[in-house]
Amino acid sequence: MRITNKIFNDLAIYMVLLGIGIGLAFPFFCLALGVPSQVALTPTFFLSCIVAGILLSFLNITLARKTVGSRIGLVSGKMKQIEGLLKDKRDGISEDGCESEDCMITVDSEDELGECARSFNSLVMTLSEVLELNSEIQRFSEMLTSHLEIDALSREALNQLILNTGAVGGALLIEKSGELALKAAVSIREPELLEENRRLLSMMNSHDRQVIRLPADVIMDAVIADFRPQELIVEPITYKNSLLGVLILANNEPFGDQVVSKLDFFNRELSLAFRNAITHEQMRLFAAVDTLTGLYNRRFGVRRVNEEFGRAIRYNMPLSLLMFDIDHFKTVNDTYGHMTGDKVLASVARVASSSIREGDVLLRYGGEEFLCALPGASLSDATMIGERIRNMVMDSHLDFAEQVIRVTVSIGAVDYPRDYISSSDQMISLADEAMYAAKNAGRNRVVAG
Ligand code: GH3
Ligand code: MG
Ligand code: MG
Repeated sequence: MRITNKIFNDLAIYMVLLGIGIGLAFPFFCLALGVPSQVALTPTFFLSCIVAGILLSFLNITLARKTVGSRIGLVSGKMKQIEGLLKDKRDGISEDGCESEDCMITVDSEDELGECARSFNSLVMTLSEVLELNSEIQRFSEMLTSHLEIDALSREALNQLILNTGAVGGALLIEKSGELALKAAVSIREPELLEENRRLLSMMNSHDRQVIRLPADVIMDAVIADFRPQELIVEPITYKNSLLGVLILANNEPFGDQVVSKLDFFNRELSLAFRNAITHEQMRLFAAVDTLTGLYNRRFGVRRVNEEFGRAIRYNMPLSLLMFDIDHFKTVNDTYGHMTGDKVLASVARVASSSIREGDVLLRYGGEEFLCALPGASLSDATMIGERIRNMVMDSHLDFAEQVIRVTVSIGAVDYPRDYISSSDQMISLADEAMYAAKNAGRNRVVAG
């Protein structure tokens, strides 16, 4: 029952009232014990008993304040100090959470106050863990948003995840056309083998996290000796039910439930970041690639040729260009229709792509005109590659309504360095001139310009 807004004041009032009550009752108690009424029932004795009752109540309240009040004061002072620490962490003013002894209230009694301190300590620990997790997720998410390229994103994300989960190593693989491609790995021996791992591939259908004890197919690459991890977490990265990739974390002891549930939060951020990176890559490809042939388009491809020209100057390396054009392509269109013409074009692009090396740059320069940059190739190399393309195009065919369509190409080749060449544009027009020379010389041939 509350009288004032202070518990100790209420207690004082109750104790004084109790003291007065006892003071009033005491003379009758004395009477019952045989004290004569002339002594027990006098105003002086009544007054003395009441004053004694009041004095005793004041003594009690002072003792209560000293024993209980001071302890409560200590607890509340500590709570304020800890609140300050947690606020500083929340606001990013301080990095320190409340993991240390400084944040704990000493539990020195086995009573309600002791229980209160215990509960407070565990509340602080939980709050501190939540804050720590929040700031880890925030740091992780800030790192993710600063990377749009899938390779860099994978590397950074894997490093951070290893740090945050206490793993000894791991790998990140990305799903591409139904297959897994390794993007990043830390401390795993022969991580490329993961791309073919049956267990991982089966996950592509199930999309469920797997915690594998003593995995047989992963060996950690340690400084002194290789070892087999105790536990492996295989975590699918999904976005709206479609698999984007797989994260693998390995440890030489079990990860623990806390780490596993923490992964849920990290995974959410990771899948969003991967979705963005994949969209970014698709957009870039979209802007760079010609939809009909799948080759670079002119705008992007010429920029790549220019880069190769710059590299040839910087490293004093040869560079050759091939310009080629389908012969009498108008006739193909006129005979079989534009749609079939498109298929022929795409097929020539495929044949040409298969005749060059990975570092070479092939682009659709115009309607049925292609340009190919061959870094490191001399004019004789280029002429040889041109001949290969010419032969392969001539030998390939497209079946159309029981007719076989065959086309040929005329190719112009040019090389660098040459004294009078100072730009990739100049090289391109020289290759174009050589190609027209091939046309004029009767088509289906390679002319070195
Ligand atoms: P030449 O041997 O002199 O190169 O003869 P040509 O008929 O190939 O040369 P020309 O430049 O006169 O004609 C090129 C034709 O290519 C004209 C155009 O209709 C066709 N063409 C250009 N782009 C496309 C395309 O995307 N699809 C199709 N089907 N035809 C295209
Ligand atoms: Mg043509
Ligand atoms: Mg043409």
